[in-house]
Amino acid sequence: MTTVFFLFRVPVWCGALTRDREPCRKNANGLLMGCSYQQHKWQKLKFAVVPPKWRELNRGLWVGPEKRVATTAAFCGMISAVVAVIDLIAK
Ligand SMILES: [Zn+2]
Repeated sequence: MTTVFFLFRVPVWCGALTRDREPCRKNANGLLMGCSYQQHKWQKLKFAVVPPKWRELNRGLWVGPEKRVATTAAFCGMISAVVAVIDLIAK
């Protein structure tokens, strides 16, 4: 529950990158939530779901057949988690 609190409830600055390349300073609720701008919400979600490091990580995940199975299973679990989060936000 603490994680959920930090991700969706704790009062923080939005922090999404604005067009002036400055972090947005409007108030937001939760690390994963943006401020009142819909675009900032999506931007933060995108950062949470696709960190730049994942590309490197991804390269190591597909070596060998049994690793491929494990990766696919983990990936499916991740997708359903993401879908659940998006569903939660869209409500
Ligand atoms: Zn913002």
